[in-house]
Amino acid sequence: MSLVVLAGPAGVGKGSIVRWILDNTDDFMLSVSATTRHPRPGEVDGVHYHFVSRESFERLVADSQMLEWAIVHGNHFYGTPLNELTRAEAQDKHLLLEIEVQGARQVREKIPEALMIFINPPSFEELERRLRSRATETEEQIQTRLVTARAELAAAGEFDHQLTNLDLEACARQVVELVQEAERGS
Ligand code: 5GP
Repeated sequence: MSLVVLAGPAGVGKGSIVRWILDNTDDFMLSVSATTRHPRPGEVDGVHYHFVSRESFERLVADSQMLEWAIVHGNHFYGTPLNELTRAEAQDKHLLLEIEVQGARQVREKIPEALMIFINPPSFEELERRLRSRATETEEQIQTRLVTARAELAAAGEFDHQLTNLDLEACARQVVELVQEAERGS
């Protein structure tokens, strides 16, 4: 079982890459994060995120139940509950963590053998276009996300591997290959 961190700015397509891997392979599962942000239309509690109150989130942190956590876009808390690792071990699956850079750094410190992969957009303009086409956020939220995105892109060099999401399927296949390579090497 490997722990695989997929980082990269919001809108880069991490979610679609994860979806492709889950749909086309048998040995991966997605870590379901806890967050204090509200669900977007179509998001299901316990599937996309565990949507929790600020109080519940803070209790999980205080009880050392989080592998990592971060405040994202200035106001919302996101974190990986430790029991996601237990769940993956029990099912003997590779665990995909789709998280941002501050959390990725915490994972690397706590679990040095985690495979750290950064997903780049083809260009910043393309990232902005993708964020806008989602149309679920206000202009102010989009601007906040773009500021965060620039900071995230600056951290790409800290990762074991960098991929560019030019083509969803090709990028997802590369992630799977990197995990298989790492497994063979260990
Ligand atoms: P969104 O609100 O678009 O679902 O996610 C916003 C950002 O939070 C994304 O960059 C996403 O990768 C990140 N994120 C989601 N879950 C976690 C988590 O458990 N921990 C951390 N550190 N970041 C997360």
